[in-house]
Amino acid sequence: MAHATFTSEGQNMESFRLLSGHKIPAVGLGTWRSGSQAAHAVVTAIVEGGYRHIDTAWEYGDQREVGQGIKRAMHAGLERRDLFVTSKLWYTLILRKMINLSSPLMNVLVGTCLNKRCTELSPERVRPALQNTLKELQLEYLDLYLIHWPIRLREGASKPPKAGDVLDFDMEGVWREMENLSKDSLVRNIGVCNFTVTKLNKLLGFAELIPAVCQMEMHPGWRNDRILEFCKKNEIHVTAYSPLGSQEGGRDLIHDQTVDRIAKKLNKTPGQILVKWGLQRGTSVIPKSLNPERIKENIKVFDWVIPEQDFQALNSITDQKRVIDGEDLFVNKTEGPFRSVADLWDHED
Ligand code: NDP
Repeated sequence: MAHATFTSEGQNMESFRLLSGHKIPAVGLGTWRSGSQAAHAVVTAIVEGGYRHIDTAWEYGDQREVGQGIKRAMHAGLERRDLFVTSKLWYTLILRKMINLSSPLMNVLVGTCLNKRCTELSPERVRPALQNTLKELQLEYLDLYLIHWPIRLREGASKPPKAGDVLDFDMEGVWREMENLSKDSLVRNIGVCNFTVTKLNKLLGFAELIPAVCQMEMHPGWRNDRILEFCKKNEIHVTAYSPLGSQEGGRDLIHDQTVDRIAKKLNKTPGQILVKWGLQRGTSVIPKSLNPERIKENIKVFDWVIPEQDFQALNSITDQKRVIDGEDLFVNKTEGPFRSVADLWDHED
């Protein structure tokens, strides 16, 4: 079972042990919607905040900036082996590579496609996608590579999808390729995001390598207990994404009455309470911030605990609701295969 331990390496960073034996630092920096500021955030997090875990994805469009930030941090003396870098499989370099290598006409054709959502999640694209990610990040390997969503979109799919945009996903074929990346030491661990219990059960039915990590939305406004329990039973470590309720348009947990009351009582900030709640549930947590003070604040969570009564109060926040429900990406109300958010999540909520 994944369990919390303290590492002895300098920063007193708490980490969780994965099935593979590797450790995942308990608090990582999220980088979704960090754009051109991602490099600065990464440097601040690593050099000033003591972070050793960075979460990114091809889909965020900021892997180059994240890579620059990592490089700068390494120039400041950090070793690659001390860092835990996660990225996610969405789609591949094939089209981008063509842009670099091909004629201006091909540029136009491929560029037209790139403006749309070219998101085929198919076995033959897994390795090129990883290679593209490594190139953007300027890294030789990843610590963790995740399937971003268990859904395959047709090349050029619209947002929201039109009829025929959402295709069958060859889960076994894609997972075999993920396993091959691991066997070839290009990634140290593989895992999934946004899976349901139904889909995890299917994956466990054929997986030679059990997913080391399942990354899911989790915060006191969406506890997501069912998947957490399932993962704990199956020794799959869980990383909680959007731990603060995500950004504008998300759930404003920073100003939630219960969170605020507990923060004042413990003399902590609401952000720290939300991060610590995730840690006390046994999940790693990846808050995103571009603000240097908040970046540093969000990781100062290791020398205190939320007392049981307050922890239970956070567990009792009502109006449980996903923020990242995937509707705009994958639901087509008339043409399926996902005609509702409930369809997308296998009616498990
Ligand atoms: P978070 O829940 O981390 O919230 C980020 C927001 O909170 C930003 O607006 C940030 O603003 C603000 N914030 C950060 N720290 C504090 C603080 N201490 N006090 C008050 N406000 C604060 O949102 P995300 O949705 O970005 O989730 C975190 C990460 O999880 C992502 O960045 C990404 O890496 C990952 N993720 C993965 C997904 C997946 O499908 N696998 C989906 C979604 C997210 P500011 O920057 O100004 O500080």
